[in-house]
Amino acid sequence: MAVIGFIGLGNMGFPMASRLRHAGHDVRCFDTSKTALERAAQEGMSPQRSVPETVQDADFVVTMLPSGPLVLNVLTSEPLPIGADSVVIDCSTIDIASCAVFHKALGERGFATLDAPVSGGVGGAAAGTLTFMVGGNETAFERAQPILKAMGKNLIHAGPAGAGQAAKICNNMLAGISMLAVSEALHLAKRLGLDTRKFFDIASTSSGQCWALTSYAPEPGLVPSAPSNRGYEGGFASELMLKDLRLAEQAAIASGSPALLAAAASSVYAMHCAAGRGRLDFSSIIQMLGESARPGA
Ligand code: NAD
Repeated sequence: MAVIGFIGLGNMGFPMASRLRHAGHDVRCFDTSKTALERAAQEGMSPQRSVPETVQDADFVVTMLPSGPLVLNVLTSEPLPIGADSVVIDCSTIDIASCAVFHKALGERGFATLDAPVSGGVGGAAAGTLTFMVGGNETAFERAQPILKAMGKNLIHAGPAGAGQAAKICNNMLAGISMLAVSEALHLAKRLGLDTRKFFDIASTSSGQCWALTSYAPEPGLVPSAPSNRGYEGGFASELMLKDLRLAEQAAIASGSPALLAAAASSVYAMHCAAGRGRLDFSSIIQMLGESARPGA
């Protein structure tokens, strides 16, 4: 069993680290939140007082943090006593430029590095069913398999350094845009006098079919497991979707790729968050289209 230094015990990091602990690994962990460390201790992990103590002699270092600058601050601002043969795995969703610095700075110090962002949300993290999209060399990917397998079900080697973040950003850009498109279609269907259930049955077996409609419908009463049936609580926060759409826009500008729909979707999510709904699941974006899309309206 491996010694793992885990940094960032938030909504995602805590259940991921718990999976590693329950798989029998020695999980040494750190978070700036005292509450998070207390919770980790109750789960049998070993809370540490600092990042250097956490990564000392670890076989694997895992980070699950909110942003690229934070990941760089934690891992590169001072030389860390990471074991020479360890693999450093950043599972956060971060910008492409920070991801490149992460690989370069730690690679120059001789460490194997992987960017390994995830999809599947808090539920997937707790159940160990996350999808990992991994960027980095094949050897590091193979070495990290037992660790990633304890936290996820689908492990996909997307390509060289940075490929995991690229895949994550493109996937979430698609999810954010398609949720808005589904919301517009449901709203228009209602305005045109269609019964919402009938339209759902038609579109979900026609060319409009997509995950945002059939697995995660933004209107209540259509897909029982969707957050729309729970007042948009839980799920994937609108503010995180806004963050990812902005990462996509940044990447599109830097690479000269057109991203008109990402820019439009990003503006709508920004207004939604500014209206105080940033913590609601991102399918609540349907509320931006007006009262008439709500149940009973
Ligand atoms: P979160 O805000 O719940 O957790 C972040 C944790 O990092 C917090 O506990 C915070 O105290 C800690 N932290 C902040 N600065 C730190 C530092 N300098 N040192 C140590 N700890 C520090 O966020 P989350 O929802 O767990 O998301 C983490 C990452 O996963 C993000 O990049 C997010 O985009 C990505 N992600 C989230 C979801 C989701 O559904 N929540 C899904 C996929 C990917």
